[in-house]
Order: sequence, then C-alpha cells, then structure tokens
Amino acid sequence: MPKSREAACANLENLYRIFTVPEAPDSTLGAVDQAIAADVAGFLQTHIVAVERSMEEIESHFGSPAIPEEPTYVSDYAEFVKEHLVAQSVHTAAPGFIGHMTSALPYFMLPLARLMTALNQNLVKVETSKAFTPMERQVLAMLHHLVYRKQEDFYPEWIHNSQFALGAFCSGGTIANVTALWVARNRLFAPDGNFRGISQEGLGAALRHRGVEGIAVIVSERGHYSFGKATDLLGIGRDNLVKVPTDTKNRIDMEALREAVRQLEERNILPLALVGIAGTTETGNVDPLERLADYAQEIGCHFHVDAAWGGPTLFSDSNRHLLKGIERADSVTIDAHKQLYVPMGAGMVVFKDPTALSAIEHHANYILRHGSKDLGSHTLEGSRPGMAMLVHAGFSIIGRKGYELLVDMGIERARTFARLINQHPDFQLTSEPELNILTYRYCPGKVQEALQSATPEQRLEINGLLDQICQLLQKNQREAGKTFVSRTRLRTALYDGELTVLRVVLANPLTTDDILEEILVEQCELVQHPEIQALLGQIYAEQL
Ligand SMILES: *Cc1c(COP(=O)(O)O)cnc(C)c1O
Repeated sequence: MPKSREAACANLENLYRIFTVPEAPDSTLGAVDQAIAADVAGFLQTHIVAVERSMEEIESHFGSPAIPEEPTYVSDYAEFVKEHLVAQSVHTAAPGFIGHMTSALPYFMLPLARLMTALNQNLVKVETSKAFTPMERQVLAMLHHLVYRKQEDFYPEWIHNSQFALGAFCSGGTIANVTALWVARNRLFAPDGNFRGISQEGLGAALRHRGVEGIAVIVSERGHYSFGKATDLLGIGRDNLVKVPTDTKNRIDMEALREAVRQLEERNILPLALVGIAGTTETGNVDPLERLADYAQEIGCHFHVDAAWGGPTLFSDSNRHLLKGIERADSVTIDAHKQLYVPMGAGMVVFKDPTALSAIEHHANYILRHGSKDLGSHTLEGSRPGMAMLVHAGFSIIGRKGYELLVDMGIERARTFARLINQHPDFQLTSEPELNILTYRYCPGKVQEALQSATPEQRLEINGLLDQICQLLQKNQREAGKTFVSRTRLRTALYDGELTVLRVVLANPLTTDDILEEILVEQCELVQHPEIQALLGQIYAEQL
C-alpha cells in the first residue's frame, strides 16, 4: 500500500504523516503532480474532457452539505478531483480558447507557485514574510516606474520607506479599483479643522462638512462592473456612478462627459473621480487619456486609469503611445493575472503621489504597528499570499522585451483576425481592434446588404434575429468544446440599438493564424444547425 494511503487513517500517528511524508510517486496525487511537472499542456489536453456535462450533473457531485466524518485516503480524493473537477474544468490554456482574458501560463509559474505554497508567507506583515515584503515593494516600484517613468533617483526615497507605499498588491482588478476610489474618497474628505475625516466620521458627516448632496464616480458606459461594486461598497451609491456614452470607437464622448459633469453640479453632487479606461473589457479600446487628464485637472478631481487589461501595452515601444496620458493619472490599476501571464489572483494599483495611500492607512496593536514595515497597513486585504513573487519572476525572466513581443503579437494577431473577418462574406466586424480584443458577428453578405436598404423597423427585426443566431452559435461552439469565443451585447457604430456580438481576446501566444481561420470555418459549420437555419429562413422571408 502506498504511503499516502496509510496517511489518511484517523489516528494521531498517521495524521502526523500528512504533514510530513511526501506523496509517493505511484499514488494518484503523486502521479498527477509528476505529470504536471513533466508536461502541463499535455496533462490539461488529456485530462480535461471536451464533452460538456450538464451543470446539474456536475452539481450532483457537490450536493452534500455534510463535512465527511471519517478521513479518507489521499489517493481516493485525488481520483475524485481528476474525475469531477479536472475533467470538467475549462481548458483556458487552449490556443483555441480565445473568448476570455485567461490564457496559457509560462511553465515556470507552476513550480514557483508550488514554492510559494511551500513557503506559505503571509504578506500582511513582516513577521510572516521577511524577504517577500521588500520583493513585493520592488514589484510595485517596477510597475510604478513602468507607468510614471520617474527618474531612477526618485525611487530610493520611497521604494522601501515603510511610512509610504507606491501602490497596493491585491487579488485582482476589482480590489485595485476599489482601493483607488477608497484613497480618492478619503483624500477628498481629509481631516480639516474640526472635521476628522471621512474615515473617522463617515459619509454623512463628510457631505455635511462640504455642504454637498453626494459624490459621484464618472466612467464611460464601457466601464467595468467593478465600479458598480466600488460605489456601492464606499457608500457613494450605484446611482452616483455616472456612465457617460461612448463614441463610435467605444471611447468616452468628451462632450457628453462635460454635460454629465454640468448636471452633477446642478444637483450639488461633487465629482469624486474621473475614470479613464485603457483597454475596455468588451472591446479593448482606450479612452483619450490625455484629454481626460486635462479635464480632471480642470474640475479638480482624482483621475484614475483602469488599465487592468491594457496596462502591459506600456512594455511595447511601438504601441505605448496608445496609452499616452496614463502617466498623468493619480492612480492606475493593472491586473497581473491577465497580460502579465501570472496565475489567477494578482492585481495591482499604483499611485503617482507616494503619500496617497496614507489616506487609507490603518494600524493595529499586535501587527501593523506604527513605523513597522508591514504591508498590511496600506492594503484593503489582510492576509495575502506571496503572489508578487510570480510577477517578479515574469518581470525578471520574460523581461520588458519579452512582454513587448507578447503585446505586439496579440495586437498584430487581432488585426489579422479583423482582416479575415472583413474578407469573409458571412461575417461582420462590429468593433475594430485597437489593442488585442475585437467583436464580430455572423451576418451573411446578403443580409448585410439588405440591412443597408431596410426600414428602421425591418432593421430592428433582422438584427433581433441575428442576435438570436449569435447567441445560439456561441453556445453551440462552447458545447462542441473545440474552440471558444465569448459573447456580449453592446451598442456599435453600425446601427442604432444594441447588438449581440462574439468577442475575441487574443493574448495566448500559442494561438496561430491557422486557428483563427479554423474558428471561422467551425462557425460556418455550426450555422447549419436546424435552429439557426430556421432563424436565417425568417430573415430571408423578412427581406422579401
Ligand atoms: C478584468 C478587469 C477588471 C476586473 O479585474 P478582476 O481581476 O476581474 O477583479 C477591471 N477593469 C478592467 C478593464 C478589466 O479588464
């Protein structure tokens, strides 16, 4: 019997073994471990089953609320994991999986992630993280330098200065955005005379102190839903998240922005933060950051740039200009688990002013003491893993030039795919790629022509049917399990109203141009489905 089997018995001696005895290579878990170490891509390819089971069936294996009374064998549990978790996982690393922002990982992330778990550092405080604390501070300084391009001699004063923080490392873009707005809020309502600041007295007192009815966050209608959560959480209210219409390129409309701010003024609502997006989640477009910076300055509010997706474009000499103006932002969010190719659960926010994060500083007696180097005094989250090591590894191993290649390749590939779509008679590009994201839909050439000459009512009718086709096509493609694109609904430059469109994110360096062609071929096959053909029949009937 392999050691791991003995390890599961419920007596004290064998429980000790779980903490001490390494997995035997011939046990199920040991074999999984070795297979991943030897060839992770092959492992995923073999063990993730392409055929989708129903959610109900999957749920049935996770139905019991009872925590097992008796210990079990590690190997038995590993079997369960293989069959019910791995087999039904989503193959996000597959080169044909181009629907979401999650892609393949560089192989070295795996052993390093394992090392991170083995070390089990807690970055909330130095007493549980030691070298990881300066390493994380360096990572934040590197990102700060990437965004703000300060002279090298700016950094010695701040990089390891425990009184301040150049940014906050967190679990993702959502927490990064919340942190940025939290800082903006506390700076807007800083202690002033008898007023002890919003963090002491709360929002009601803060509004009375300033004599205003409310505060607002302004972002384009392409803004990420994390701003809805942030305004809710920070007491601003979702009604005070102002979503400004976009132009035909999915960028914030500056005239509409001015109008929105005028209306806030009329209602005596103070703009807390203006948010620019560098890489919209749905279409990958970049707001005019320079003009937003000017305007934020004009109205005197915090300028935040949500570069969760597009931030790494800064690595590219030839594409960096797309983000011009980002260096004027008061705060910038960048997700590491997206285009820095770090596993899930890593985001960062950096602040131009190294004293900004003091606005949310928090101390406690047993840790985070005044003057300590504990990172936890400047973060929303408490206990945190050493994920910064994986960002540090990416920066060190891939380097600026490596990331530049990855970024440039993605942008080039998106242009190639856009060309393929434009050349294909049966597809219609619904948003031109600016970075590496685009949207399109199935719309046969004849229908495209008919739409040109159709009355507004007919157009609405036809687009409604095309929306249904798009939805079915996307669902059928996902269920077929060979390739994956995602789907969203948005207003496009083509027609009035919203369209359902297919969305493609090209960040996996293993996605070849051939795969892109195959995706269109597969979609043309999938539209032969009777349900879709029936809808097409209705469109042609409409046309006549
Ligand atoms: C992904 C994303 C977020 C949210 O990040 P999470 O890591 O999912 O919390 C915010 N903004 C933009 C533009 C994004 O692409």
